[in-house]
Amino acid sequence: MELVHKVCIRDLNPHIVCILCAGYFVDATTITECLHTFCKSCIVKYLQSTKFCPMCNVKVHETQPLLNLKIDRTLQDIVYKVVPSLLDNEMKRRQDFEKRMSFRNGVEESGDGMGEDCSDTSIPNQHYFMHDELIHICLQPLDNGSNSGPKFPSQKFVRCSVRAQVFHLKKLIQKVWPYTSKNELAVMCNGEQFPDNHCLKRIWLSHGKEMDPPLKLQFGVKN
Ligand SMILES: [Zn+2]
Ligand SMILES: [Zn+2]
Repeated sequence: MELVHKVCIRDLNPHIVCILCAGYFVDATTITECLHTFCKSCIVKYLQSTKFCPMCNVKVHETQPLLNLKIDRTLQDIVYKVVPSLLDNEMKRRQDFEKRMSFRNGVEESGDGMGEDCSDTSIPNQHYFMHDELIHICLQPLDNGSNSGPKFPSQKFVRCSVRAQVFHLKKLIQKVWPYTSKNELAVMCNGEQFPDNHCLKRIWLSHGKEMDPPLKLQFGVKN
């Protein structure tokens, strides 16, 4: 008897493809009134001109349809599991977009004679992470520094964008635990170290699912 059920990706497609763009869900977002799901950007754009669900025509909300949208993280994770290349492509697309934005800001600002360095004044980037899917993490030092010096927190809870990278965490760690600031850090989970460019989504998908939230990450000073 055949015990292993192989699922053909084509059979899954109707459940993980957005009818508005015909692509796999990106930031899967569900209408709470009818539970139909779309990409976040697709449904937000769609609801600018109507208050009704594009699939079943239910009225999403009397006046503000966006209030009845909910990010569906579980479904999005399924999409990433089924189509692993999608996460990489999406990350790359967003990185390219960021690069383009900062390039444009740079050009505009030097054109204005405002100086070359746009890192602090690029307003579009300032709120760029605000609407991202968020992840809760707990940072734990492997070694809490010298016993004689000032006390630093033994752990810190942080909520940040899933697109934040190990590199960003290291910057944060060096602020919260100043004794680490002069050293090269290693960030790890269950003993596995991550390179600077790994994003938290990736770490969560590979390590976070087996543990109760938050995602617990350890860090230490490299010898
Ligand atoms: Zn879509
Ligand atoms: Zn619907």
